[in-house]
Amino acid sequence: MTLLSMTVILCMRIDILTIFPKMFQGPFTESLIGRAIKNGILHIKVTNIRSFCKDKHKKVDDKPFGGGVGMVLKPEPLYDAIKSVGVKKKNNLYKKYYSKPYVIYMSPQGKTLNNEIIKKFSKFKHLVFVCGHYEGIDERIINYVDEEISIGDYILTGGEIPAMVVVDSLARLLPGVVKEESSVKNDSFYNGILDYAHYTRPAVFKGNKVPDVLLSGDHKKIDLWRKKEAYERTKIRRPDLLKSKF
Ligand code: SAM
Repeated sequence: MTLLSMTVILCMRIDILTIFPKMFQGPFTESLIGRAIKNGILHIKVTNIRSFCKDKHKKVDDKPFGGGVGMVLKPEPLYDAIKSVGVKKKNNLYKKYYSKPYVIYMSPQGKTLNNEIIKKFSKFKHLVFVCGHYEGIDERIINYVDEEISIGDYILTGGEIPAMVVVDSLARLLPGVVKEESSVKNDSFYNGILDYAHYTRPAVFKGNKVPDVLLSGDHKKIDLWRKKEAYERTKIRRPDLLKSKF
């Protein structure tokens, strides 16, 4: 296998459809994501839905049928934007992980995001994120959406920050993004429990000492302590995780 074909296999394509493309400038140019893009592990394209408006005023929203407050994102420019990134029709979930784009609509009414969903998304080759705004998108666009995802039971002004949350989290799982891949596997939720406590120098801070075992140099003992610590803090902070695990 040549280096070039390896890169093609490892590269994930992400399309973001938004009416506020500038919002992605900072989060997608800095830190791990910025480096993953530079290194060709991630290819992210942010598309302005407005550029698909055919009218003179480039109007992306309109009043809701039936009256009431707020505006709704119009279906035509959104449909054209979805088509432009290669989406033809809905994916068959059982044929997942193919290069066909998988369309995710960020919505407070979707499935609540968790690490299992992130793991699933990290295996796709091409994801498309639709970011809603105002009262949301015209319901008929849901026909072209494979999955609706919420980042929690609260309302944000738009789907941009939720899309960033998903992209940031799944990028960490892509090979080569986090230097020490084993650290990802020790993170909270990866194995269904929370991470253990971490300490760094100095060994004593404001009278608080680092646990002796971590200074012992005995790696078997340290490993055991960390496992116990992870389990104990999960029991106290998130007993629900242990119930679903055992
Ligand atoms: N009227 C909608 C409702 O009550 O379900 C809320 C619309 S919200 C103000 C505008 C957009 O923000 C949504 O279309 C969605 O894309 C995004 N959004 C808001 N809260 C979200 C959440 N918790 N998770 C994911 N996306 C969210």
